[in-house]
Amino acid sequence: MNLEKGGTKAVVETASTEISELQRLSASLAGRAPHEILARAVERFPRITFATGFGVEGCALIDVIARHNLRIHLFTLDTGLLFPETMSLWRRLEERYKVTIRAVRSERSVSEQATQFGDRLWERAPDLCCGMRKVAPLKNELAHFDAWVSAIRRDQTGERSSASVVEWDAKFALVKVSPLASWSSADVWSYVRSNDVPFNPLHERGYPSIGCMPCTSPVFPGEDPRAGRWRGLERKECGIHTRFERPQLPSSRKERPGNVRVG
Ligand code: SF4
Repeated sequence: MNLEKGGTKAVVETASTEISELQRLSASLAGRAPHEILARAVERFPRITFATGFGVEGCALIDVIARHNLRIHLFTLDTGLLFPETMSLWRRLEERYKVTIRAVRSERSVSEQATQFGDRLWERAPDLCCGMRKVAPLKNELAHFDAWVSAIRRDQTGERSSASVVEWDAKFALVKVSPLASWSSADVWSYVRSNDVPFNPLHERGYPSIGCMPCTSPVFPGEDPRAGRWRGLERKECGIHTRFERPQLPSSRKERPGNVRVG
């Protein structure tokens, strides 16, 4: 970033230039294969990470990253409330692809949260629970990077329908890369089946979208794939992929050496 001119006007101009660059980059990558998008992202943003929640899209991307030997740091938000099947998939992916998927956790354990805020906070205040167990730890982790990879697809929710392949994520103040933005669920499953990618067995038991145990239930035929997330509530997002709050410049990042795939 060139901030040498100083002053608010210069900062705004520089921000516009950066956003334009991202828009050009995104346009140039639209329609390209995920590995091509990721390879270009690594080249442009060497300090890049992938936050996976072990959905089937995330498993496909881990396969792409490993298959093409892309230097992308991997982590997951371990809320302490994941399904045993998800924990087991985590280990299977690490073994299969010889990678480390780092655990990023809340500063409070689930029992500490219960002591401070009461039992089963997710039933009374899911925004607060997600804020502490997901959004805050994610924000802290992303502060070490210049770009992050997301496994979102545009057709998943209305909130995600305008996602670009590359865009500025003002919520977390870094670049967001979504290589599967234009893929359908069928595209993902076709990739996973044809490449024998490990996936969560819960997907075959009525759980198309899987999050924390207390907030995920099976989906019935004809329901929206995310109907089982926070069932009975309007919310279908935990706050991570809600759209951008306000444009701002990338701030100087905290140092985290080893922005590489581990293993
Ligand atoms: Fe808490 Fe549910 Fe959010 Fe998990 S998904 S962090 S349990 S509110």
